[in-house]
Amino acid sequence: MSTSVKKTESGGPMVRAERVCKSFGHVEVLKGIDLEVKTGEVFCIVGPSGSGKSTFLRCINHLEKINAGRLYVDGTLVGYREKGGKLYELRDREVAAQRRDIGMVFQRFNLFPHMTAVENVMEAPVQVKRTPRAEARKRAAELLDRVGLADKIDSFPAQLSGGQQQRVAIARALAMDPKLMLFDEPTSALDPELVGEVLDVMKALAQDGMTMVVVTHEMGFAREVGDSLVFMDGGVVVESGNPRDVLTDPQHERTKSFLSKVL
Ligand code: ADP
Ligand code: MG
Repeated sequence: MSTSVKKTESGGPMVRAERVCKSFGHVEVLKGIDLEVKTGEVFCIVGPSGSGKSTFLRCINHLEKINAGRLYVDGTLVGYREKGGKLYELRDREVAAQRRDIGMVFQRFNLFPHMTAVENVMEAPVQVKRTPRAEARKRAAELLDRVGLADKIDSFPAQLSGGQQQRVAIARALAMDPKLMLFDEPTSALDPELVGEVLDVMKALAQDGMTMVVVTHEMGFAREVGDSLVFMDGGVVVESGNPRDVLTDPQHERTKSFLSKVL
């Protein structure tokens, strides 16, 4: 793929979390997450179900609001403006502008069922960026070609396999030219034989230098493609480091126990 690497405006990390907390009612789901995602890296998050991985991704992408701490994307506070030591919520328009730079791919592909593949991919550029339809269609066709679906541009989601639908979803996220891509267990809903084609597309994207945060149970992918990895459990980062090191030689009991179940 030839998606160019997006440099951060700040020259600093693409994502920085400082003591990020998130509760739902009385339930504290994120209990002070600290981490840093460097520009151009593939940052993997692993951990048991319910540990807060999806919630953390959703906070980065404004689908949830954090209760405490600071979360920055490209040096800019997510969802808030800081003034005189106080935080003020951003207006809807400002939130929309921040979200535009972030692509997200979910476990369930969430394609529009009544639209063809190419229509799914061109939808956001046309609606959000007001890109002329012909131009958006041309670019959408190019993106579908890059994810190996040149022959499927006029197919409807129901006519595509799960792996193909997920590749359309990736192309759709790329159509907005994001500087950051978030993947929330992108292969967990797929039949085993379809996992590889989606991981291959993600690998190509990584090789192009896209900054990616990937929640996954695919330890092979994390080891081969990941630059950094954190193990989350119970709303905290238990352990972090180079994926090869953490996966081969985990230091904490909770990491060891989790890995012994998934590897
Ligand atoms: P993971 O992705 O690691 O499996 P999640 O972030 O989805 O974990 O969920 C972490 C915890 O937060 C779970 O206990 C879940 O039930 C809870 N949770 C997530 N979203 C909500 C919500 N909207 N309302 C209440 N509880 C939630
Ligand atoms: Mg999840």
